[in-house]
Amino acid sequence: MDNIINIIAGKNQDNAKEGDYINSDGILICGKCGQPKECIKEFPPGSGRMKKFSVICRCDVEEEKAFRTRLERQEWKEYVKQLYKQGLTDSAYLKNTFENDDNRNPGITALCKKYVAHWEEHKANCHGILFYGDTGGGKSYYSCCIANALLQNGVKVLVSRLSDLVKNRINKDSQEINLKIFDLIVVDDIGTENSTQTAYNIIDDIYRYNIPLIVTTNLAPSELKNPDTIDKQRIYDRVLERCCITQKVDVKISRLDTARKRREQALKILNTQ
Ligand SMILES: [Zn+2]
Repeated sequence: MDNIINIIAGKNQDNAKEGDYINSDGILICGKCGQPKECIKEFPPGSGRMKKFSVICRCDVEEEKAFRTRLERQEWKEYVKQLYKQGLTDSAYLKNTFENDDNRNPGITALCKKYVAHWEEHKANCHGILFYGDTGGGKSYYSCCIANALLQNGVKVLVSRLSDLVKNRINKDSQEINLKIFDLIVVDDIGTENSTQTAYNIIDDIYRYNIPLIVTTNLAPSELKNPDTIDKQRIYDRVLERCCITQKVDVKISRLDTARKRREQALKILNTQ
């Protein structure tokens, strides 16, 4: 035990830490993992002179790995933050996540989660979803759950109301959103836009770029199939072709559910002391 010396870092060996020691060969040994932190080699080769070199022990390797992981995680977080910045046109969309789901409609939640789980296949086949139903039923909610989950996985998603995309394209002062860069585009609330020509151009671009499309609308599929103008028909034809998964999001269920929840809540208060 005589050769166990607590070395103060920087005194003799630069890479020595507290607890390290020098063995009988004069080699610095890691006090934690027991591996050498130095080796002796002939240097320059063939010179017959021996020189001590620093080597890294297991702890150093793990420390380096942990550092890299932390760095990568940090960079990943930054990357995802950027995706959110370019993809969510309204910060309200942020709140709509699977984590915040009150599970009022387990069937729809399951469908959305499956879409996320099989994203690569849906992307390859350009499968989109049409969520339809009355206002307040949660169409935007479910489409944003998908968007948020995919953004977290590093997928480039754009979520915007069609009317905002139209405004963005008409307004020559604002920088036009480059639709081409996205992997998935969620077009919220179609059927309320004013300029049907611009709206058609936007939907047609998404169609031509082969970007999967998720759409929400108050219009029923029958209304989408038989709109009152040719312009609208051109838009909805594209939407119906791409949104091969159609899902009704029924407001009645959620209203009943809210009423039931309120009743339960009231009863709970009545039943407590
Ligand atoms: Zn070590």
